[in-house]
Amino acid sequence: MSAFVLQIQDLDESGRDWSFAIGKDWLASALADTELRAGSRDGSLRVHAQRNGLDVLVQGRVEAQVIATCARCLGDVTLDVDLSLAALFSPEHMRADDSEEIDVRLDEMNRDYYGGGQIVLDPMVRECLLLEAPMKPLCSEACEGIAVPAHLRPPEEIFGASAPDARFAPLLKLKEALTKNEE
Ligand SMILES: [Zn+2]
Repeated sequence: MSAFVLQIQDLDESGRDWSFAIGKDWLASALADTELRAGSRDGSLRVHAQRNGLDVLVQGRVEAQVIATCARCLGDVTLDVDLSLAALFSPEHMRADDSEEIDVRLDEMNRDYYGGGQIVLDPMVRECLLLEAPMKPLCSEACEGIAVPAHLRPPEEIFGASAPDARFAPLLKLKEALTKNEE
């Protein structure tokens, strides 16, 4: 069920403000088939909607917490999303008239449609959250990834930075022997 709905009849040309809580339950279901999960607190959606003829201009701000998965260690990455959004909603029956000219003029703004006397913002809010999530979330820039279990780690004497390479040991011995012979 849609949570963020504006009734067209409540709108006029001077505009109106709305404030919604973005509940964790809403986040959980909206993000169900994505890489993201709901955070530990509720978010908020504040919008100002203004009618202009049949079109409705919606401007607002989304604040929410979502959890992504670190691309290196698979740990949780908490993302605090805080972004503004703007969209122009036109009546559903205008969709067919959508000319290229309009698209070019409004290329900076999302264009969407409403029907049934109401504007449903849920898809737009969801889209915002998805766009805000990085392609490769990292719990920290310095994340070293999944720790290799001790029994799978290569022996220190081979790959350790300071210890001499064990494979050179016979050569070192030979060198010692040769040096001694020269004395
Ligand atoms: Zn990580």
